Order: sequence, then C-alpha cells, then structure tokens
Amino acid sequence: MEYCHLCDGEAPLVTVPRTFEASGGPSVTINDTAYQCARCGEVFYGGGMMDESLRRVAAAVRVRDGLLGSEELVAVRESLRHTPARMSEILGVAEDLISKWEQGLFPQPAKVDRAYRRLRGEPDRLPKGVPRSREAA
Ligand SMILES: [Zn+2]
Repeated sequence: MEYCHLCDGEAPLVTVPRTFEASGGPSVTINDTAYQCARCGEVFYGGGMMDESLRRVAAAVRVRDGLLGSEELVAVRESLRHTPARMSEILGVAEDLISKWEQGLFPQPAKVDRAYRRLRGEPDRLPKGVPRSREAA
C-alpha cells in the first residue's frame, strides 16, 4: 500500500482502463496499472511502472496505426546484421530512439515504419486516401 503524496490517503495498486493522448491520431485506451488515491483520486506510478504504461500505450498506437511491432523492428535490424548505431545512421535518427522503439517504449513514426518495411523488402504502399491516378505521376 502506498500513500498519496497530496492528501496522505491510502492509494492501492489498481489496474483500470485509462485513456492517453497519443501523437499522430486519436487518443488510446489501455489497461493501466498505477496507484490511485482512494480519497482524492490522484494517480501515480512506482519505479518501472511508468515504462510499462508507455509500452502499453505504444502497443495500442502500433495497433491503431498498423505499425510494425517492436519485436519486428529488432528482427529487421538483426536480419540485416546492423547494430542500433548503424540503424540510426541509415534512418537519420538518434540512436537512443532506436532502442526506445525496439524496447516498445515509443511507437516509431509512420515514416520510419515505411523505412523498416522497405528494408525488409516490402514494396511501398500508397498512403490512405491518395487516388490511384496519382500512382503513375
Ligand atoms: Zn490523495
């Protein structure tokens, strides 16, 4: 049992659906585990619990946006025998982002997702809503 830092009320560990703002689209709802004050409702996280929430939000965004899963990003990189440092050079992003995507803490942007798909040999798909007639242009 933890105690609320605002009102000293008892704050049991609860897992409840919570909705989070997520970049690039509508907010996502996950089953979130956190301490919640029984008196004032304050929600707070213990060590490591925030990372788990980030992972669940990132996983929900990956499903929402049809992105590759973090384990698929690792598989693409390993199939090419690239280090995270080499992947960061190829993609033009900071190396710590590669590890955050691979650990599932953040979803990769759509542009990066397309780059990974190209690296594993998938043809580019047209973005949704682009008329077919523009394909040849
Ligand atoms: Zn409280």
